[in-house]
Amino acid sequence: MKDGVEKLMQGYRRYRNGDYEETRPLIESLVSEGQHPEVAVVACSDSRVDPAILFQADPGDLFMVRNVANLVPPMEEEGTYHGTSAALEFAVLGLGVKHILVLGHAHCGGIKLMMEPDPYDSSFKFVPAWVSMLSAAHRRVLATMSHAGPEARTRACEQNAVLVSLENLTTFPWVRERIQLGDLQLHGWYVDIAAPQLSAYDWEAGKFMPIS
Ligand SMILES: [Zn+2]
Repeated sequence: MKDGVEKLMQGYRRYRNGDYEETRPLIESLVSEGQHPEVAVVACSDSRVDPAILFQADPGDLFMVRNVANLVPPMEEEGTYHGTSAALEFAVLGLGVKHILVLGHAHCGGIKLMMEPDPYDSSFKFVPAWVSMLSAAHRRVLATMSHAGPEARTRACEQNAVLVSLENLTTFPWVRERIQLGDLQLHGWYVDIAAPQLSAYDWEAGKFMPIS
């Protein structure tokens, strides 16, 4: 653990003397004029899938929401601590982002746990409840892909998680309104970082298509 933290300190020193100096004018303007990101990204907390690295983004480009399995929950009136919904409200109502991008990924631990609950991990309470919003999509995958191999089914569940999040986004009235006004677009992307291969959901084709 100490090694990991020491690496962060070393990284900060390199950043302060390197990238920070290079991007200093940009960062100073972001501080004086405020942030105006055009894109909000909903990505997984997975340490291997960092949108800022994947998209070579600059400070101020991406308003980031990360959680287990890159999920957007449906709008709920009950409860208090809706972290993902609060972040999206801030992005849409506070910052006026033009795009919300849900980024799914291969080898997702949250999706794996949803598909194959580990009996030895019965101490898990919050993750199973969180990923249960994918239960209906999982049942559809099992019903329609009964002859497919486990890898194909897992990929289908990971990609369906993106579609469920996109669908849930439209349960928020301020998302629906801005889409109707043409001020907001939703995007569903999926990445396999090992390849690397990025694909985008094509609404007309009804499937994920590779981005070259
Ligand atoms: Zn994940």
